[in-house]
Amino acid sequence: MITLQNYINGSLCNPIENNWLDNIEPATGKVYSRLPDSSQYDIDIAIEAAKSAQYSWANMSVEDRSAIMMKIADGIRNRFDEFAAAESKDQGKPLWLSKAMDISRAIQNIEFFATEILHFASESHHTSQTINYTLRSPIGIVGCISPWNLPLYLFTWKIAPALATGNCVIAKPSELTPYTATLFAEICIEAGLPAGVLNILHGTGNNIGSLIVKHPDIHAISFTGGTVTGAHIASIAAPMFKKLSLELGGKNPTIIFEDANLEQAISTTVRSAFTNQGEICLCGSRILIHDSIYEQFKTEFIKQVQQLKVGDPFEADTKIGALVSEGHINKVKSYIDLAIQEGGIVLCGGNLVYPQGACEKGYFLEPTVIEGLSNTCRTNQEEIFGPVVTLQSFSDEAEAISLANGTIYGLAANIWTEHLSKAHRVSAALDFGIVWVNCWLLRDLRTPFGGVKHSGVGREGGFEVLRFFTEPKNVCIKI
Ligand code: NAD
Repeated sequence: MITLQNYINGSLCNPIENNWLDNIEPATGKVYSRLPDSSQYDIDIAIEAAKSAQYSWANMSVEDRSAIMMKIADGIRNRFDEFAAAESKDQGKPLWLSKAMDISRAIQNIEFFATEILHFASESHHTSQTINYTLRSPIGIVGCISPWNLPLYLFTWKIAPALATGNCVIAKPSELTPYTATLFAEICIEAGLPAGVLNILHGTGNNIGSLIVKHPDIHAISFTGGTVTGAHIASIAAPMFKKLSLELGGKNPTIIFEDANLEQAISTTVRSAFTNQGEICLCGSRILIHDSIYEQFKTEFIKQVQQLKVGDPFEADTKIGALVSEGHINKVKSYIDLAIQEGGIVLCGGNLVYPQGACEKGYFLEPTVIEGLSNTCRTNQEEIFGPVVTLQSFSDEAEAISLANGTIYGLAANIWTEHLSKAHRVSAALDFGIVWVNCWLLRDLRTPFGGVKHSGVGREGGFEVLRFFTEPKNVCIKI
């Protein structure tokens, strides 16, 4: 049994009240580690540590902060295979995906913000009588709360810019995927991150998560997770006037126009629908197809989806691993049942999978494609967050835009067309924070990242997030 510990004041430590949670490996359904169920005592010690570290971290030169962060990135690189295996064991995703996406991107996140901070600048405004300049200071102590789908990737996506801008951080990974955050703490110790600058507290959202959100000494919350949780966090943090960044759920459309390069559109849409078992906030779960090519798209799409191998995340040819938990697979399966009740036709998939051997009690589900549903039914309105997509047809551009925009969400949209003006026109008309044209998940970390409507508030990435994690102060000098 592996014991995962909190990271407080520069050391790994047990929770003060000695309460622990079981951690289950999704591919086997077995408990393989335990993690702290942290409490008020743990956060109080972490806050005191962060307060002690705050002044020297904020006043360290950016070059020195950057150098420590680069050492942390190197530390992950040196233990790359161990990190990737831990991520797959904890989350259920294929090992090749942990390597190609999660751990590679975690390293990239840290290196990106460690170097971006060296180029961060503020503005000045001149008149005939005055010079104004903007000072940007760290906020102080900030809270970073992340979800289970891309554990280290999203954990570092928040922590790295918060640290680079000179803040001390109280961070909480998801209780479902705590493993790589704990390995990350070991790396921080080895890299010489000063004690108290980063504190990692494990536990549930309702317990330690909510204590982080409520804590009066934490002045900003960066949260990624579900829309309902985000609304709850906002209801507590907003009256305390905390800065808030909320990256929430989605119900993303993929629009296939009649002039799309179908070969590329189909193979990429298989990826955008089912990568990471469909458990990426950016996955396209509503596939909208021009009616003139609907049957052609459907036939080839299903053929390719049926070839995706479901099973043991540690087998090299597995394309779809385990869903993250028993609760989550039950939720996703209930949406397939709902879709059938709503009149949907399951074109492929729909069943639980029981691989032989070590994974027979794991949480596996066939990739599922459903057609015959209206855009307004619950299956097409609510986030499922699993390997389940629907197909709908449209007859013209206006209808495609209206279907795509027709949910409460607005995270990411995907367009496939070879028509340049149409690509620009439709991108502008879509109510989403991100639009990919003829591609998916190509990420440039300098770009603003986030959603509109119920998909969130604020933007991460690039200089946007460095502005989020700093307070601007205007200094006005009379000439
Ligand atoms: P979740 O909202 O259940 O939990 C996210 C994190 O918040 C976890 O660490 C959890 O412990 C914590 N939490 C839960 N309740 C809390 C509370 N009351 N106070 C403070 N913290 C609390 O989400 P999840 O199930 O872990 O993740 C899936 C969701 O995340 C999906 O909706 C997905 O779309 C979304 N997501 C969004 C993005 C994005 O960038 N927009 C990225 C990844 C995932």
